[in-house]
Amino acid sequence: MRNLNTILNHITASYVNFVLMNNWALRMDGIGKSYPTENGELWVLKDIQCEIQAGSITSIVGPSGSGKTTLLGLSAGLDNPSKGRVEILDSSWQDMNEDQRAKFRSQHIGFVFQNFELIPTLTALENVEIPLHLLGQKNATQRAKDLLTQVGLAQRLNHYPTQLSGGEQQRVAIARAFANSPKILFADEPTGNLDEDSGDNIEQLLFNLNREFGTTMVLVTHNLQLANRTDRIIRLKGGKLIADEQPVTQAQ
Ligand code: ADP
Ligand code: MG
Repeated sequence: MRNLNTILNHITASYVNFVLMNNWALRMDGIGKSYPTENGELWVLKDIQCEIQAGSITSIVGPSGSGKTTLLGLSAGLDNPSKGRVEILDSSWQDMNEDQRAKFRSQHIGFVFQNFELIPTLTALENVEIPLHLLGQKNATQRAKDLLTQVGLAQRLNHYPTQLSGGEQQRVAIARAFANSPKILFADEPTGNLDEDSGDNIEQLLFNLNREFGTTMVLVTHNLQLANRTDRIIRLKGGKLIADEQPVTQAQ
């Protein structure tokens, strides 16, 4: 039965992807980002041009300092580019003020950080349900419980972050990121601080959630095994987009 559901979900997600084939969820148009330094402006992202297809999973790879986190932050409207525009869903971050951005993010965007960023004074359940209360969702507590059950934490609802392992904290963070049923999810090295087994579980969870909900995902990762399972790999080096390819396994 479970297998049948998985297959049906996969077919549905594939169909959604097919229908949306010419649709992009995110578009970076001539993006540049610079910071002032003693020696003048330092360009940490240079002329990034790319479109991310709705429903797809894209990985961003590249050496440390190549601009991956900066690019993700600009994509999620957490920061402003020095040049160019970032268009997201049917909008553009540049056309929104701070309040509008916060509202748009709470409605449509999920973000998973490398270091989890859970609120330490709240339980797992509270970490997931509070954003839902803020969105005015009536059955917030039940939805939060359902999400935590889905990520395998039904027995950990009342644990505080310090009482959870790294992998469990990341699963809470993923449940929280999915709470608003985001159209697009950004994850910055979601398995970077985890051991191999926990990392594998988190990967599988992200892929399952993508299949189930058709969520567009953009993942920064150093994990080539993870990158090779995504639809597309974007490679950054020195702030430039130097390669944009389909993994070998996907292309066959
Ligand atoms: P990555 O995530 O690929 O490791 P980052 O996007 O974090 O890289 O950083 C890219 C470059 O931008 C780095 O060289 C970093 O030092 C620089 N950088 C990031 N944030 C700032 C900032 N607030 N001020 C100055 N330089 C920054
Ligand atoms: Mg980074």
